[in-house]
Amino acid sequence: MAEFDGRPFFSCRNCLNPLAFHHDLISKTFKAQTGQAYMFSNAMNVVLGRKEDKQMITGMYTIAKIYCSNCGQELGWHYLRAYDLKQKWKEGNFILEKFKMLKEYK
Ligand SMILES: [Zn+2]
Repeated sequence: MAEFDGRPFFSCRNCLNPLAFHHDLISKTFKAQTGQAYMFSNAMNVVLGRKEDKQMITGMYTIAKIYCSNCGQELGWHYLRAYDLKQKWKEGNFILEKFKMLKEYK
């Protein structure tokens, strides 16, 4: 496993694969089907699913689901495109469901 110089990070609840650094956390206010979800500017060790258009409360998006590269658990989604100009800031960011992760300090 990689060495993270004491920086806190989140890992897959299933297999402890590191997924995102705490310092890349943008927002904790997102909602997913399982409940609370976090937005990150970056994610690691994830695999992207196919592109799909999705209608959400705040508008239409092109997203790709993201999966753990180790165990294959579905974790959340990646914003590829926001159709609404006010939502453009979300493009390139990752949503990870809180319930699917563990927070670790190494
Ligand atoms: Zn995993």
